[in-house]
Amino acid sequence: MMKKLFTIFGNPVSHSKSPLMHNLSFQGLNYNGCYIRYKLEDGTQLKNKFLELNIAGANITVPHKEHAFNACDELDEFAQKVGAVNTIVNRDGKLYGYNTDAPGFLKAISEFKNIKKVLFLGAGGTAQSTSVVLRDAGYEVTIINRSAGRLERYIKEEFSTFTFESFVYNESYDLVVNMTSAGLEDDSLPCPIEILKQVLPSAKACVDVIYGKETPFLKLAKEYNKPTKDGSDMLLYQGVIAFQYFTNNQFSFEEIKDKMQKAFTL
Ligand code: NDP
Repeated sequence: MMKKLFTIFGNPVSHSKSPLMHNLSFQGLNYNGCYIRYKLEDGTQLKNKFLELNIAGANITVPHKEHAFNACDELDEFAQKVGAVNTIVNRDGKLYGYNTDAPGFLKAISEFKNIKKVLFLGAGGTAQSTSVVLRDAGYEVTIINRSAGRLERYIKEEFSTFTFESFVYNESYDLVVNMTSAGLEDDSLPCPIEILKQVLPSAKACVDVIYGKETPFLKLAKEYNKPTKDGSDMLLYQGVIAFQYFTNNQFSFEEIKDKMQKAFTL
């Protein structure tokens, strides 16, 4: 049988861990697949490239998640609801879109017990899908964001929201999450330190979606002696779930995780 080709579409893609994660899993599970990286400059070309290169499945990263949503012929119910696609499977020339970031995040925070109220710092694309999955799972999500514009969608969906200026600390939050890219390529905190000084003391745990480095946010959380975790588990779990879609559920979550997590130790 011919090898099936998979890829990550994004710009940039040179630092992505996805090729290593998926290729280790193909190898370890004896699946005849190969995963490459494709730097796509023009997101409107996503569907054409998919079909032209005969790609069997793809992950889509910054800045093409919205194009990915539009490129699909069929959308899974959850992807449709949250308006974001990060995984596409090609079935007989038809593109099927899924979102695995949000369930990946949900799984990543499941190790923290007795969490009910979650505070998101940031309201971008990742926060969008994740807030919905968390609410569906019974968490109460509050969102603080720098710009007011991005909060409109959340207000419509009846989330409790604040800008930095309007924030008032009148309830404690069990889990505080950095959902922004603050700290990724700079040394900035996701919100003014005065807000963090209010919310961190009563938090039970802190999570960052950024992975592979200790951000100023996680550093501060550690100063408050909070249990912390970066975005590595989220990355791993979204990859495992995507792999299940790619391979038509032939393998269990644990089997895939066992192979895929080697990418984080190499
Ligand atoms: P978006 O571009 O959609 O949103 C960015 C958000 O960050 C906005 O809310 C923006 O606020 C805020 N922001 C950016 N810089 C700052 C700053 N200096 N101070 C305060 N707020 C800031 O990004 P995504 O949602 O796609 O990605 C967010 C993060 O999630 C990234 O770091 C990405 O790497 C990470 N990620 C991790 C994954 C994983 O598997 N671990 C998966 C997907 C994403 P404003 O509205 O004011 O501009």
